[in-house]
Amino acid sequence: MKSYFALLFAMAICLSSQSQTMKWNKNPVIAHRGAFKKNNLPENSIASLKEAIRLKCYGSEFDVHMTKDGILVVNHDADFYGMDIASSTYQELLGKKHPNGESIPTLEAFLKEGMKQKKTKLILELKPAKGEEEMMKLTDAAVKMVKDMKAGPWIEYISFHYGSLKRVLELDPKATVAFLASGKGIVTAEKLKADKFAGADYHYSVYKQDPTWFEKAHSLGLTINGWTVNPKEDLQWMIDNKADYITTNEPELLFELLGKKAK
Ligand code: MG
Repeated sequence: MKSYFALLFAMAICLSSQSQTMKWNKNPVIAHRGAFKKNNLPENSIASLKEAIRLKCYGSEFDVHMTKDGILVVNHDADFYGMDIASSTYQELLGKKHPNGESIPTLEAFLKEGMKQKKTKLILELKPAKGEEEMMKLTDAAVKMVKDMKAGPWIEYISFHYGSLKRVLELDPKATVAFLASGKGIVTAEKLKADKFAGADYHYSVYKQDPTWFEKAHSLGLTINGWTVNPKEDLQWMIDNKADYITTNEPELLFELLGKKAK
């Protein structure tokens, strides 16, 4: 009996410490490809992720591709300094380096770095692959890695590929997913809700053309994220409209507009 209570006590301590440590930064700032611009860091590098964390952004966004030999790597374009990622092996890609000396980060290394802290979320974009089959392979591998590394609490998935996000939710019904789109590619708030997405992550021109999006989404319990918002007046417009998240290359400026001094 004594040991039973000791076990219960230990479990309670464990639960409370877990909930105490998961206090994500409370601001709408998502650093697009990490906080790279001000300090001239490579986009999607570990250095730009660390800078987004140092700035206390809510989230740091990054893009995930798969190499020919099935390694998940972080980079924006489909090529890394001229080498096509999908048709190169990871070893081959190591032949090129970012100007700061970093190699192309693996998703594993990226998650490891991000999981050293519990304040900034990791906004994982599943990049469109060459075909449907490749897209699902990429999706499945990313969700498996997140699961294996127990990185779930840090991750929010985004993608321009609607089916990929639906697949994420099939594999992990608790995952947070938001659909990236612009112009005619957008779907209604009602559809996002019906498909159990967390929110819309549209080019902000969509919301400018139809500002009722904010109220509509919020009334359905959906979040609004907009990209890539850089001009001061547009950042302010998103703040004034109570966007939940603002994805920007200018996180320092956005913090200033929010009245929080960037460091
Ligand atoms: Mg992206």
